[in-house]
Amino acid sequence: MAGDSLRGARLGSASFEDATGVTLSPRQTTEYLCSNQHITSVIFAADAEVPSNWDCRQCSQVAKLRNPSQAEQPEPETKVARTHLEILLERRTREDLEILLKEVLADLKLRRKNAS
Ligand SMILES: [Zn+2]
Repeated sequence: MAGDSLRGARLGSASFEDATGVTLSPRQTTEYLCSNQHITSVIFAADAEVPSNWDCRQCSQVAKLRNPSQAEQPEPETKVARTHLEILLERRTREDLEILLKEVLADLKLRRKNAS
Protein backbone atom coordinates (compact mmCIF):
# COMPACT_ATOMS: atom_id res chain seq x y z
CA MET A 1 0.00 0.00 0.00
CA ALA A 2 2.80 2.37 0.96
CA GLY A 3 4.50 1.66 -2.35
CA ASP A 4 1.34 2.52 -4.30
CA SER A 5 0.87 5.90 -2.65
CA LEU A 6 4.53 6.71 -3.17
CA ARG A 7 4.26 5.93 -6.84
CA GLY A 8 1.19 8.11 -7.04
CA ALA A 9 3.04 11.03 -5.49
CA ARG A 10 5.91 10.61 -7.89
CA LEU A 11 3.59 10.61 -10.84
CA GLY A 12 1.83 13.68 -9.50
CA SER A 13 5.04 15.64 -9.09
CA ALA A 14 6.14 14.65 -12.57
CA SER A 15 3.01 16.04 -14.17
CA PHE A 16 3.37 19.20 -12.07
CA GLU A 17 6.86 19.63 -13.47
CA ASP A 18 5.45 19.41 -16.97
CA ALA A 19 2.88 22.10 -16.21
CA THR A 20 5.48 24.56 -14.90
CA GLY A 21 7.83 23.81 -17.78
CA VAL A 22 5.37 25.40 -20.18
CA THR A 23 6.34 29.00 -20.90
CA LEU A 24 3.44 31.38 -20.64
CA SER A 25 2.83 33.62 -23.60
CA PRO A 26 2.92 37.38 -22.89
CA ARG A 27 -0.33 38.86 -21.58
CA GLN A 28 -2.00 42.22 -21.71
CA THR A 29 -4.54 43.49 -19.23
CA THR A 30 -7.43 45.37 -20.76
CA GLU A 31 -9.97 47.41 -18.82
CA TYR A 32 -13.59 47.95 -19.76
CA LEU A 33 -15.79 50.67 -18.32
CA CYS A 34 -19.59 50.35 -18.31
CA SER A 35 -22.10 53.19 -18.04
CA ASN A 36 -22.27 52.58 -14.27
CA GLN A 37 -18.54 53.27 -13.99
CA HIS A 38 -17.70 49.66 -13.21
CA ILE A 39 -14.28 48.57 -14.33
CA THR A 40 -13.90 45.05 -15.65
CA SER A 41 -10.35 43.88 -16.29
CA VAL A 42 -9.84 41.15 -18.83
CA ILE A 43 -6.53 39.47 -19.56
CA PHE A 44 -5.76 38.60 -23.14
CA ALA A 45 -2.74 37.10 -24.79
CA ALA A 46 -0.49 39.90 -25.99
CA ASP A 47 -1.11 39.06 -29.63
CA ALA A 48 -4.85 38.52 -29.26
CA GLU A 49 -7.29 40.86 -30.90
CA VAL A 50 -8.93 42.86 -28.10
CA PRO A 51 -12.69 43.36 -28.55
CA SER A 52 -13.91 46.94 -28.10
CA ASN A 53 -16.87 45.85 -25.94
CA TRP A 54 -17.17 43.46 -23.02
CA ASP A 55 -20.02 42.53 -20.69
CA CYS A 56 -19.64 44.22 -17.30
CA ARG A 57 -19.00 41.63 -14.60
CA GLN A 58 -21.01 43.58 -12.02
CA CYS A 59 -24.15 44.72 -13.83
CA SER A 60 -23.92 42.81 -17.15
CA GLN A 61 -24.19 46.00 -19.17
CA VAL A 62 -22.03 46.52 -22.20
CA ALA A 63 -18.72 47.97 -21.07
CA LYS A 64 -16.51 49.86 -23.46
CA LEU A 65 -12.77 49.48 -23.86
CA ARG A 66 -11.22 51.95 -21.46
CA ASN A 67 -7.77 52.45 -22.93
CA PRO A 68 -7.89 51.84 -26.65
CA SER A 69 -4.32 53.11 -26.99
CA GLN A 70 -3.17 50.00 -25.15
CA ALA A 71 -5.04 47.78 -27.53
CA GLU A 72 -3.67 49.52 -30.59
CA GLN A 73 -0.02 49.46 -29.74
CA PRO A 74 2.04 49.70 -32.89
CA GLU A 75 3.55 46.23 -32.95
CA PRO A 76 4.59 45.49 -36.51
CA GLU A 77 5.54 41.93 -35.58
CA THR A 78 2.10 40.99 -34.30
CA LYS A 79 -0.09 43.21 -36.47
CA VAL A 80 -0.56 41.69 -39.89
CA ALA A 81 -2.48 44.61 -41.33
CA ARG A 82 0.69 46.21 -42.66
CA THR A 83 3.43 44.41 -44.52
CA HIS A 84 7.11 44.93 -43.84
CA LEU A 85 7.41 46.67 -47.19
CA GLU A 86 4.66 49.14 -46.28
CA ILE A 87 6.38 49.97 -43.00
CA LEU A 88 9.68 50.42 -44.83
CA LEU A 89 8.06 52.68 -47.39
CA GLU A 90 6.78 54.90 -44.57
CA ARG A 91 10.33 55.50 -43.45
CA ARG A 92 12.17 55.57 -46.76
CA THR A 93 11.44 56.39 -50.35
CA ARG A 94 11.39 53.63 -52.93
CA GLU A 95 14.58 55.08 -54.48
CA ASP A 96 16.31 54.81 -51.12
CA LEU A 97 15.21 51.22 -50.83
CA GLU A 98 16.44 50.33 -54.31
CA ILE A 99 19.88 51.67 -53.41
CA LEU A 100 19.78 49.92 -50.06
CA LEU A 101 18.73 46.66 -51.69
CA LYS A 102 21.60 46.84 -54.19
CA GLU A 103 24.03 47.50 -51.36
CA VAL A 104 22.72 44.58 -49.34
CA LEU A 105 22.81 42.24 -52.34
CA ALA A 106 26.35 43.30 -53.22
CA ASP A 107 27.37 42.78 -49.61
CA LEU A 108 25.75 39.35 -49.56
CA LYS A 109 27.51 38.33 -52.76
CA LEU A 110 30.82 39.47 -51.32
CA ARG A 111 30.22 37.58 -48.09
CA ARG A 112 29.33 34.40 -49.97
CA LYS A 113 32.49 34.71 -52.04
CA ASN A 114 34.56 35.12 -48.90
CA ALA A 115 32.86 32.20 -47.21
CA SER A 116 33.64 29.71 -49.99
ZN1 LIG B 1 -21.39 47.76 -14.66
